[in-house]
Amino acid sequence: MRGNNTEGILPEIRDVAIGGDATVECRNLGFRYGRRDVFSDVSFTLMSGVVGLLGANGAGKTTLLTILATLRMPKSGQALLLGEDVTSVTGRQRIRRSLGYLPQTVEVMGSSTVFDNVAYAAWAHGVDFSEVGCAVERALEAVGLMDVATLRARKLSGGQRRRLGIACAIAHQPRVLLLDEPTAGVDPLQRVRLHQLMTLIGKKSTVVVSTHLADEAARVADYLLIMRDGGLAFAGSPQMLSECGMPGMDVARVIETVMAGER
Ligand code: ADP
Repeated sequence: MRGNNTEGILPEIRDVAIGGDATVECRNLGFRYGRRDVFSDVSFTLMSGVVGLLGANGAGKTTLLTILATLRMPKSGQALLLGEDVTSVTGRQRIRRSLGYLPQTVEVMGSSTVFDNVAYAAWAHGVDFSEVGCAVERALEAVGLMDVATLRARKLSGGQRRRLGIACAIAHQPRVLLLDEPTAGVDPLQRVRLHQLMTLIGKKSTVVVSTHLADEAARVADYLLIMRDGGLAFAGSPQMLSECGMPGMDVARVIETVMAGER
């Protein structure tokens, strides 16, 4: 995976690539709401693995994810998923078949069962009707919701609802999975389970996980993207980042110093 670092920040970090084909490529990507730039000139390349997308509140993580999820158009630069451009109509159609997305706010069909919510998501992503049942069971098992499969979705707790959103995003086994704060409101036991799930999915797919929790990113991410000051402050492996810290400082603390602009 490769990325740019904001000029002058962490200049010692070199660009590296790890094996596999590129799944997500951003080139000089920029976005603004009205006249206000959220970020500009963001460039990185991702391959399979778990990618921690970090930044303080307002850094632009959700905005970047919505562009990659083909819900917003970039204002400048280019974003390619699986070689398809998010600004092209046919590109977006192709991307969506291979993309899973957990938005920050999960909308469920409250009067349908948990099972049916996931079945609908799987079908909508093109899973063959004969395989939908297996796909749903696999996804519910993965997020630990099999025991509430027949419950109406409106009865779920906030954390369970979040996990239902993840099940809907993974049922079709996407090549690129975008998770916007997947562990927000999830209890510690399920959080560990979700970390293991991300690691497992990351063996074959690209899993981009936005979080403002440095410890979480240090635990699960193979690669880090840290947003700050309207751009990308760091893109690279946790090992590369730890080389920039004080000797003995753990990765999570280095992430915090970069997010805070102290490095
Ligand atoms: P993060 O996910 O890192 O917290 P966001 O992408 O949600 O950051 O927001 C980035 C910036 O864009 C923030 O300053 C936020 O206030 C602003 N923003 C987000 N959504 C909108 C919107 N719909 N209209 C105008 N500004 C927005």
